[in-house]
Amino acid sequence: MIVIRHHVAPPPFGCRWCGEQAGHHGRSYVRSQGMHAWEQPTTAQILARMRARRAARTHKES
Ligand SMILES: [Zn+2]
Repeated sequence: MIVIRHHVAPPPFGCRWCGEQAGHHGRSYVRSQGMHAWEQPTTAQILARMRARRAARTHKES
């Protein structure tokens, strides 16, 4: 299965800035933060991502 990055919501526990998971984050560049290390997403972000992923999955399968 091919997943296009950021085509769907990032993993719920992906970096709060770029969405990459801690295990393979390393140092990443985003325009808003510049170079950064993985940082824990906020509870609101986690919930929003879970909701978005569920919505995307439901949409695709129906
Ligand atoms: Zn990041």
